[in-house]
Amino acid sequence: MELVQQVLKGVPLRVSPCLTKAGVAHGFTSRLGGVSEGIYASLNLGGNRGDDPGRVRENYRRVCEALEVDMGKLVFSGQVHGDVVRRVTLADGGKGLDRKVDYDADGLVTDEPGLTLVVFGADCLTILLCDPERKVAAAVHAGWRGTALGIAARAVEIMVRDYGCREKDILAAIGPGISKCCFETGPEVPLAMKEALGEEAFPYIGPERTGKYKVDLKGLNALWLNRSGVETTNIDISSECTLCAPETYWSHRYTKGERGSQAALICLK
Ligand SMILES: [Zn+2]
Repeated sequence: MELVQQVLKGVPLRVSPCLTKAGVAHGFTSRLGGVSEGIYASLNLGGNRGDDPGRVRENYRRVCEALEVDMGKLVFSGQVHGDVVRRVTLADGGKGLDRKVDYDADGLVTDEPGLTLVVFGADCLTILLCDPERKVAAAVHAGWRGTALGIAARAVEIMVRDYGCREKDILAAIGPGISKCCFETGPEVPLAMKEALGEEAFPYIGPERTGKYKVDLKGLNALWLNRSGVETTNIDISSECTLCAPETYWSHRYTKGERGSQAALICLK
């Protein structure tokens, strides 16, 4: 299903019907509802992009209040466009906002209630996962490299292997990000997808036009989740494209990198 817009305590968020039904606190943020100024206006959640730290902290305070989660127990990813999914515990609480992130990981997974996992995007996709039966949550950042590496499938693998989740219980939500309408690439992207997924990748890659291709990263990530055993009816997908809506969302391509970041957050309660 499509994500739904909610305004919680003044902060506009997109939420997943699947995850909402499961009772997990979560949300995908936009540019709106914060206090940052200039190129960071207004809800910048990126801590290392040159924005005033006090404003970033106030933005987090607002988002945490909206989701009713503990601001001292946020855990940030350390994104490097890889496929590492890190298991995090309460010992990691505060990494990112209060202290340094001491790992590289584009995905986070936990079974600790109260810990809020945070991943970032600005065209790149953010994906949230939850098994409400085993009470396990995960958050993933997937640009084209992470998509080619199958990071969403890595997260499911770890949920099953290390936490005892069953694939059919896993719910997923793919957030706003650059969509097939706008994600124009050179041949390296379709090539990487074909190498990783074979013929199954073909429906998500547009025809070549003067050396360029349009690629559907949301569809490819849903395919990875499907191949891992997550049921299609348990995957919500935002149709919103960050490059089509640069007033609402941070788009790396639109801003040429002069920007803040949106985030996807998830917390077991
Ligand atoms: Zn678009």
